[in-house]
Amino acid sequence: NVRVRFAPSPTGPLHIGGVRTALYNYLFAKKNNGTFILRIEDTDQTRYVPNAEKYIIDSLNWCNIPFDEGPNKNEKFGPYKQSERKDLYKEYAAILINTSWAYYAFDTSEELDFLRKEHEENGKTFIYNWHNRAKGKLVNSLVLTDEEVKAKINAGENYVIRFKSPQDEVLEMVDEIRGKITIDTNTLDDKILFKSDGMPTYHLANIVDDHLMEISHVIRGEEWLPSMPLHVLLYRAFGWYTPKFAHLPLILKPVGKGKLSKRDGDKLGFPVFPLSYTNEETNEISKGYKEEGYFADSFINMLAFLGWNPGTEQEIFSLDELVQAFDLKRVSKSGAKFNPDKTKWFNQQYMQQKNDAELTDLYLPILSEKGITKDKVFVEKVVASIKERAVFVADFWELSNFFFEAPTEFDEKASKKNWKEDTAELMQQLIAFISTIEDFSSANTENEIKEWITAKEIGFGKVMQPLRLSLVGALKGPHLFDIIEMIGKEETIKRIENAIK
Ligand code: GLU
Repeated sequence: NVRVRFAPSPTGPLHIGGVRTALYNYLFAKKNNGTFILRIEDTDQTRYVPNAEKYIIDSLNWCNIPFDEGPNKNEKFGPYKQSERKDLYKEYAAILINTSWAYYAFDTSEELDFLRKEHEENGKTFIYNWHNRAKGKLVNSLVLTDEEVKAKINAGENYVIRFKSPQDEVLEMVDEIRGKITIDTNTLDDKILFKSDGMPTYHLANIVDDHLMEISHVIRGEEWLPSMPLHVLLYRAFGWYTPKFAHLPLILKPVGKGKLSKRDGDKLGFPVFPLSYTNEETNEISKGYKEEGYFADSFINMLAFLGWNPGTEQEIFSLDELVQAFDLKRVSKSGAKFNPDKTKWFNQQYMQQKNDAELTDLYLPILSEKGITKDKVFVEKVVASIKERAVFVADFWELSNFFFEAPTEFDEKASKKNWKEDTAELMQQLIAFISTIEDFSSANTENEIKEWITAKEIGFGKVMQPLRLSLVGALKGPHLFDIIEMIGKEETIKRIENAIK
């Protein structure tokens, strides 16, 4: 029974790395007829950002990868917010104390800093584990008597509960992507599991919840790989079944070295967030893929390829196809370089696949904002003729304004080159000829006008370029006779007359 979770900490907006973790969990769950769970890991109250949770849920919904269980949804293992499960963790910390897998420690941060410095001066690193834990300088329940410990706690002294990591063991673990990993437990710190403010640390809460929520596979970012030994040891300490682990490769900056950061987006000029986000403290707005005009399915397709590939040449995958093709075995170990140009490429591919009616619905509001009220059938034809050249719906106007209004300016360079001394006269004659054309369909006007030019024994360019300039204002746009059909006879003549002036 596959049960996976996405467990973000609501400390700010999700960046694309987080969304990719969610996506891989989703794909893995759906591929295996499993359950995709959202758990909010909000035990660190100092870093809590109030609107982050909503942002996370809105993002998953926009990406079309909704969770099956989570806050306010199928709460059968709930609550799914760790702050609402607070009391639970205390019980589990107590179990570890009772079984001697954990102990109380009263050392202040000043004392620990002092020890660290002292070690450093002697060319050593201070590790809070068996090397030091019971040797005099540290104040914990391994050196104090039970009475002393009780007295300190009752007196309200601050304490933490630390995990007692084993001595002299080579711990063997398996990662589904990286294979076998071994670690010398002597290098592990006795990590803090619980603090006297009543809150667990990430490690304890995460393991307890993964166990209670019956998580089968932990799929998360590589930055959590160093925590894996502790997590595996915690499962052992509790005597619980250990889920399988898969650590996803980092997402790297497009240029240079290192991991893509939340700040790179604004710095490098591309979004790193799914939805735009307003920082409530600074009022700064970070751009989002949605608001920048990316299609959600294209965004997801791009993200899927950041660290995974199907092993074939195929690049365009619908969400269902991704579910079918996805396999943890094909996730790479090495970092995946983020490529903003590829992101645009995907959007352009998706643009071609979208149906014209759907795109028209997106274009109509943009037109109506400009005061243009053309009927849907007309706009749909326009969209069909230009979408090939568009990456975003926002490009439509630039590519199609001449379908809706006469040009007010003419490209200077092109005019100089193509509007000759005899052009005005030629255009007058063309107007006269066009007035006689009855069937104004694209194919027929093309036929008749081309025949007319041929009969005059002049080059096509001498007529066609000035004609395009007159109608469009520049030497761009789709097939000229399609434009002529769309704007109609009267408007065609009007625009040529206007160009002659
Ligand atoms: N709360 C952790 C995070 O913010 C979860 C890590 C994990 O999946 O274990 O990413």
